[in-house]
Amino acid sequence: MKSMKMIRSLQNILVTGGAGFIGGNFIRVMLEKTPDFTGRIINMDALTYAGDAASLTDIEKKYGGSRYHFEHKDIRDKAAVDNIFKKYAIDTVVHFAAETHVDRSIVKPDDFITTNVMGTFTLLEAARAAWRNGNSAGNGVVPVAGGDSIRSGVVFHQISTDEVYGSLGDSGYFTETTPYSPRSPYSASKAGADHLVMAYHHTYKLPVTLSNCSNNYGPYQFPEKLIPLMILNMLNGKPLPVYGDGKNIRDWLFVEDHNRAVWLILKHGRTGEKYNIGGENELENIHLLRLLMKIVAKKTGRDIKEIEKTINFVKDRPGHDRRYAIDCSKIKNELGWQQSVNFEEGLEKTVDWYIDLVR
Ligand code: NAD
Repeated sequence: MKSMKMIRSLQNILVTGGAGFIGGNFIRVMLEKTPDFTGRIINMDALTYAGDAASLTDIEKKYGGSRYHFEHKDIRDKAAVDNIFKKYAIDTVVHFAAETHVDRSIVKPDDFITTNVMGTFTLLEAARAAWRNGNSAGNGVVPVAGGDSIRSGVVFHQISTDEVYGSLGDSGYFTETTPYSPRSPYSASKAGADHLVMAYHHTYKLPVTLSNCSNNYGPYQFPEKLIPLMILNMLNGKPLPVYGDGKNIRDWLFVEDHNRAVWLILKHGRTGEKYNIGGENELENIHLLRLLMKIVAKKTGRDIKEIEKTINFVKDRPGHDRRYAIDCSKIKNELGWQQSVNFEEGLEKTVDWYIDLVR
């Protein structure tokens, strides 16, 4: 059942966290590879350790001041958020900004709660005030009751993760109706934000969409995450730390495929709906590592047996989810989305990018 009835005209898109890995790629995809998008992007990012404005220098040069605007601001700063809605007449929010590293959330959850939960709340309140009928200028005044109507042609898209669903055994898949069962402070904070987003739809009729995606990979990812960490450690001859027995399973998707799905949801997704996005590409971490070793050895001429000696099994992460796997048939059937990048080709592109980085 393909239904492409909903067509939103999106002109002033607020991207939060656009100096990060997936948000930055979204901006590239929108400005460079999406001819049916003719509007502008406002990138609001606090530039935490994970954000790098310089990763978009080429975009700034090409589109800066016209179709691309950077605002170095924190989503927890209510005055700043309200001002951005007003200054740019925001009609669309694509909310990527978050604290994202599970290990950090275990050591120090504080920023996960304030950014992921309170930051999302701040954005929702700003959208509700700015998009209230009779308040098209967005003066930051929050309506007192839930009865006020929201103008049409606006949407708030929440970027979420498959981790909110918890952990699977050897079989089964997460669907859009799988109950949330987060198990780390990171996934709990994302789940809290998702619940708020859906509550704002049900209570205040805020037009929202939400997507839960599996693990992304590709260029520009901060090297604390599995794939870039392993590639860079291989390139620098450092140990390759593998949690537990290395048999935890993740589903991997090339970042650009994720963002093409987000664009489809923005344009055609049904208001108030959740969509799962996945690679249908499940792999044990140790298997992924061996693939990376093969590619790095081929590209650098190093002996794969030498790289293999640097594998170092370390004590497992507390509460380490065993398996994630996504059923993404809804977005395929409803919106005609499909993964387009073959996993080995995507990994090769990614390794090439990190080889260039260390040169
Ligand atoms: P990232 O860590 O690379 O980037 C996060 C960005 O958010 C950074 O630029 C950072 O500076 C910014 N940021 C953090 N706190 C902020 C604040 N208070 N105000 C403004 N900006 C702030 O993250 P990512 O991997 O690109 O993930 C983006 C989103 O996608 C997150 O919401 C994450 O939960 C979700 N997600 C990620 C994956 C994945 O595999 N990486 C998978 C599914 C969903």
